[in-house]
Amino acid sequence: MFCYHCQEAKKNKVCDTAGICGKKADVSSLQDLLMFSLKGLAFYSSRAEAFDLVSDKTHHFMAKALFSMVTNVNFDPADFVNLIDVAVRRRNSIRKKFLAAYQLKHGAEFDETLPEEASWQYDEASDKDFIAKGETVGVEKDKEGLDEDVHALQECLLYAVKGLGSLAVHALEMGVEETEQYRFMQQALDFTLSKNNTQDEVLNMLLRCGELGLAAMGRLNQANSDKFGEPEPTTVYLDTWDRPGILVSGHDLHDIEDLLAQTAGTGVDVYTHDEAIAAHAYPALKKYFNLVANYGGAWQDQKTQFPKFNGPVLVTTNSIQQPKKTYQEKLFSTGMVGWPDVPHIEDRKPGQRKNFSAIIELAKQCEPPEPLTDGATTTGYGLQALTALSDQIATAIEANKIKRIIVLAGCDGRHKERRYYTELAEALPEDALVITSGDTKYRFQHMDFGMIDDIPRLLDAGQINNFHGIIAFLQTLQQKMGLSELRQLPVSFDIAWYEQTTILMMLALFALDFKHMRVGPTLPPFFTANILDLLDRRYGLKGIDTPENDVAAMMAGE
Ligand code: SF4
Repeated sequence: MFCYHCQEAKKNKVCDTAGICGKKADVSSLQDLLMFSLKGLAFYSSRAEAFDLVSDKTHHFMAKALFSMVTNVNFDPADFVNLIDVAVRRRNSIRKKFLAAYQLKHGAEFDETLPEEASWQYDEASDKDFIAKGETVGVEKDKEGLDEDVHALQECLLYAVKGLGSLAVHALEMGVEETEQYRFMQQALDFTLSKNNTQDEVLNMLLRCGELGLAAMGRLNQANSDKFGEPEPTTVYLDTWDRPGILVSGHDLHDIEDLLAQTAGTGVDVYTHDEAIAAHAYPALKKYFNLVANYGGAWQDQKTQFPKFNGPVLVTTNSIQQPKKTYQEKLFSTGMVGWPDVPHIEDRKPGQRKNFSAIIELAKQCEPPEPLTDGATTTGYGLQALTALSDQIATAIEANKIKRIIVLAGCDGRHKERRYYTELAEALPEDALVITSGDTKYRFQHMDFGMIDDIPRLLDAGQINNFHGIIAFLQTLQQKMGLSELRQLPVSFDIAWYEQTTILMMLALFALDFKHMRVGPTLPPFFTANILDLLDRRYGLKGIDTPENDVAAMMAGE
């Protein structure tokens, strides 16, 4: 086992026996073999695009398979055996059509040297054989014959493409998609098969991935707004009610809508957890009286918080952890999420809602949740609400009432070093406006930030994908203030990363040529010292320091 694709890699180096996330060596090998198989599929599908031979189904499959490997999404070996088998069968089918089309067009056989990824075959799909094969592929095998700095950048590309897959699947669930991003996924996987890529070539791919990642976030936001209305600043209660409830964790607003529609009038309340808190801000979701509150905090607190909820918990999209016995029987997954023996709610059929009746029936038999806290917080500063504040914010900057905007966005996680984000928020002066998205906000949303004139000093844009709204708002602000470049705005980015969608935030800032950003609590373990140096010189990428030093540096414009 060799996995270092998230921020919690053991000692910030590598998980080599078992994952800190709960991933075991068998699943790690299967994920490595899935990536190997997807590269083989991409070898043919990226070439077959020229002949228009790649179906939507293949595009969707690739995005889903990439999404399944995002940290904390799926831990079920059976799911990966199936995905590998489908990838190889799709590869073989596209290969056949491509070779025929190539022969017809060129009057000669396709004669490129085939990487093993494009030619590997097996007799029968079996977990034992796939695990054994998976142990022979993966990060260390890919490194052979490659410059280690190029390899580091290519690993980053693979992880970013997984993040892109997750955004594409979320948007697809809302009926929105973009062919270009699917083509890029294929292109990127095929690109990493070459042993001749230069650093600059990989960097260019990373910048393109950053652009597409930002566009994919924007597309998802638009799809959410089109379906559920523009998010609006909304007070979210943090207490509990005296009826049984269902807790929803993850990002998927479509699932939440289906659940709300089916629970309305049943006497069962719906609570949000982690990034699902953003649901409270959407008009078509908050109209349901039984969407009552947010329960608990970020994903890493689920083992202590889920048992106290008493009712069933539905995990959509990602961030599932090994369930404790105290709540395993009440846990459900859906979408690409999976854990062995955790019941899975099947995908919705066209034109129908997902069927949550099993969860609702279970909820009716459960006690109401135990209170964890009380009070309230505010979310919903999506693009429209941020833009509505842009004149006031521009005026406050010009009047020196806002000295700096600090974008404190990204993921939360288990590391105790993440208290940095609380301490940093506490140490920021009153003329620093804080904008956030993602679940790192749980580190500081309980604090009273106060106001700057009529502007709340903490603006929560919502989920990770609402990072696009933050960037679009900053571009509006840049225009209003007559500045020619985004980086001339008094803005600093301090990104808390954990998994692969946050890598897209970093790449998006590279692509925007925004100099000076911090990424923490540790820098990605897959980057070499040379690459970190290069990224610092080109894009001003830094790790975090003490909260006091970083506050001083950011307020001084660094
Ligand atoms: Fe370790 Fe992260 Fe990989 Fe899990 S995803 S095995 S925690 S590096």
